[in-house]
Amino acid sequence: TAVPTVTLHDGTEIPQFGFGVWQVPADDAERVVAKALEVGYRHIDTAAIYGNEEGVGRAIAASGIPREELYVTTKLWVSDFGRAEAKAAMETSLQKLGLDHVDLYLTHWPAPATDKYLEAWQGLQDIAEQGLSTSIGVSNHLGEHLDRIAELGGRQPVINQIEVHPFLQQREVIAANEKHGIATQAWSPLAQGQVFDEAPVVAAAEAHGVSPAQVVIRWHLQQGRILFPKSVTDERIASNFDVFGFELTAEELAAIDGLEKDGRLGPNPAEFS
Ligand code: NAD
Repeated sequence: TAVPTVTLHDGTEIPQFGFGVWQVPADDAERVVAKALEVGYRHIDTAAIYGNEEGVGRAIAASGIPREELYVTTKLWVSDFGRAEAKAAMETSLQKLGLDHVDLYLTHWPAPATDKYLEAWQGLQDIAEQGLSTSIGVSNHLGEHLDRIAELGGRQPVINQIEVHPFLQQREVIAANEKHGIATQAWSPLAQGQVFDEAPVVAAAEAHGVSPAQVVIRWHLQQGRILFPKSVTDERIASNFDVFGFELTAEELAAIDGLEKDGRLGPNPAEFS
């Protein structure tokens, strides 16, 4: 299966579709990531706070897949926000992953109450300069946070990873990303499994003979977003990847757009710290 890539403003390419491992227990991470790699996923999204970087790293090492064919993302947790702290945290993550660099390193939340995300960003600029991460980006940033990073100058985020699914479509933040030339990654793209009984999703699934999860994945892909749904079930890991043989119609996409209800599942980035 040829997964499309998205070209980022630093000139690199990222596979548009990958595998996420939030809430995958440390003891399961090696098994599920090994399964994902076997099925064909080449883009893995983890984070220091997920506590499973070692398992991800073991699966990568055991796979024998050449490093340049893989795209690995991890994230800097807010307790390590600071220029020197970021560098130390990156080194810890690399050690756990068993890698000499990641493809993408993100600041995990802006945590505006502590006002340290600009210092953390300077840390990521250093990390990119040193080649420890090829690309750098942010997660859960709002337009105002992106504007301040732009004012700071220097290397700019290529990605903003935010909560996006049919119940929360984030038009405002996506417009802010586009203003800065930043690509959008959708986290909890399947609304953590809560969107599968909705009528437009069920109707499209029946029309194409696919699962509701596959429909929601296509809804993201056809709008150009990067996503990495999570599953710990072999059969779902495989079927979620089997999404490149059908296309939703404009009417089906629009009907799913109609599910918007400001339905945030995670914390509000303006308040979380
Ligand atoms: P998701 O929307 O990918 O949903 C995952 C859940 O959906 C599974 O646990 C399972 O219950 C269900 N599911 C998956 N495939 C299914 C299928 N084929 N059939 C039926 N049910 C199925 O949720 P997520 O894990 O929160 O988000 C994906 C990834 O996004 C995470 O693993 C993580 O990598 C990233 N993420 C990032 C942040 C952040 O702050 N940056 C926050 C949350 C998640």
